[in-house]
Amino acid sequence: MSPNEATITLPNNKTIKTPTGLFINNEFVDSVDGKRFETINPVTEKIITTVAEASEKDVDIAVDAAEKAFNEAWRYFTGVQRCKLLNKLADLMERDLDELAALESLDNGKTYKESKETDLSMSIEVYRYYAGCYTRHEPIGVCAAIIPWNFPLMMQAWKLGPALACGNTIVLKTSEYTPLTALKVAALIKEAGFPKGVVNILSGYGKPAGSAMAYHMKIDKIAFTGSTVTGKYILKASSESNLKKVTLELGGKSPNIILADADLEEAVKWAHSGIFFNHGQCCCAGSRVYVENSVYNKFINKFKEHTEKMKVGDPFENDTYQGPVVSKIQFDRVMGYIETGKKEGATCLMGGDRHGKEGYFIKPTIFTDKEEMTIMQEEIFGPVVAISKFNTIEEVIEKAHMTTYGLAAAVFTKDVSRAIKISNELKAGTVWVNLYNTFDSYSPFGGFKQSGIGRELGKYALKEYTQVKTVQINLDMTA
Ligand code: NAD
Repeated sequence: MSPNEATITLPNNKTIKTPTGLFINNEFVDSVDGKRFETINPVTEKIITTVAEASEKDVDIAVDAAEKAFNEAWRYFTGVQRCKLLNKLADLMERDLDELAALESLDNGKTYKESKETDLSMSIEVYRYYAGCYTRHEPIGVCAAIIPWNFPLMMQAWKLGPALACGNTIVLKTSEYTPLTALKVAALIKEAGFPKGVVNILSGYGKPAGSAMAYHMKIDKIAFTGSTVTGKYILKASSESNLKKVTLELGGKSPNIILADADLEEAVKWAHSGIFFNHGQCCCAGSRVYVENSVYNKFINKFKEHTEKMKVGDPFENDTYQGPVVSKIQFDRVMGYIETGKKEGATCLMGGDRHGKEGYFIKPTIFTDKEEMTIMQEEIFGPVVAISKFNTIEEVIEKAHMTTYGLAAAVFTKDVSRAIKISNELKAGTVWVNLYNTFDSYSPFGGFKQSGIGRELGKYALKEYTQVKTVQINLDMTA
């Protein structure tokens, strides 16, 4: 078997063949220097397989491929031709749904059910949504995308969908923790019939590969999703190289506000999935819950009761709600925050410890009773929530604004006018009312404050992948 294809055995003993090379010019190839890195199963802490690792030299080759494809082919495709290919890709992903979902769960630790019903279904929807668009403005050229590990398939779709629909070619780097599904989709991109070089997928680390993309002189636009620290680095790299256009989707510390008149049972359910969905590894996780004083005790009792019912365990079991966090580094980081919460004097109502002896499992953790603490300020990106109380709307809005982030927020109330008033006040790119973590292809998503620059999804994303040209013509040559 080629070193750029692996046969991976799933927990049910079925096997999946999947590519492990760099995807450049519609071929899976070795990296120039032959380096590879391991990708780890977070359930067993064992190696799943190795993938080729991109260096600066591979970034150059991928960018050249994307540039050639842009200049010679893709920009001349009509909107209808591009639409057909994007729809074909969505069809192929539907055909291979089970394999893709299994691979995503194996690489990331998220439950198989979630991979299938949320990540795959939204990724396919995004490709179909952008297949319906046509270009009014000009494509930018060679685009780069750098994505994180928490939603590998969805982040790939959010970047490729609008970039390709607008006529750009692309070099995308996956997270070093979850390289597998993007390569599997790359094989489908080839099968769908996209011209070579239009999509190039690199596995590799932030340095050297990601950094080489951020500084590259021939990349015209970079779309980044990840931490705010890395986002600032990307912006700096753009200013120090060729002023490539930059969009950033960064971190969050989103407040979830529960008013006393809310339907408490519903608020508990949504607040629970708001933080614990995908094991808290969501940029928009509702990690700070503020409950109106008069219902605070009732809320936290119900919230704890509800959380206790949720099974932590094997992502491939149907009744599992929470699998392991993605990696050892992430495990240590989240456990470090839990220790800080305890040291800073918060009450640990539940959890606060690892789950089981093997794998990167962390018990769902609830902190209460303290606001001036690190875990109320910093993004933890794990199954940890801090719950606090408030007395007035003014007070809770002030509290909601006390972090540097502004990605999302939520309000629970039966009073629509209060919901609208609070939504208007909140400094957040998305405000959910009486629900949490809902997404669709046509609603823009992005951050206020240090949660990002620009928007993904919907028509707003098309603006980020096109440039406007003014052509003025003097028709009266005698004037
Ligand atoms: P990260 O910033 O460490 O890594 C993200 C990506 O950037 C990875 O592919 C990584 O290899 C690459 N990278 C790292 N250093 C780089 C450098 N110097 N130059 C270029 N690329 C570099 O973030 P992460 O830990 O993978 O992801 C978690 C973060 O992502 C969280 O902060 C989360 O909030 C954020 N996130 C945001 C959104 C959003 O839409 N706003 C969505 C998902 C995740």
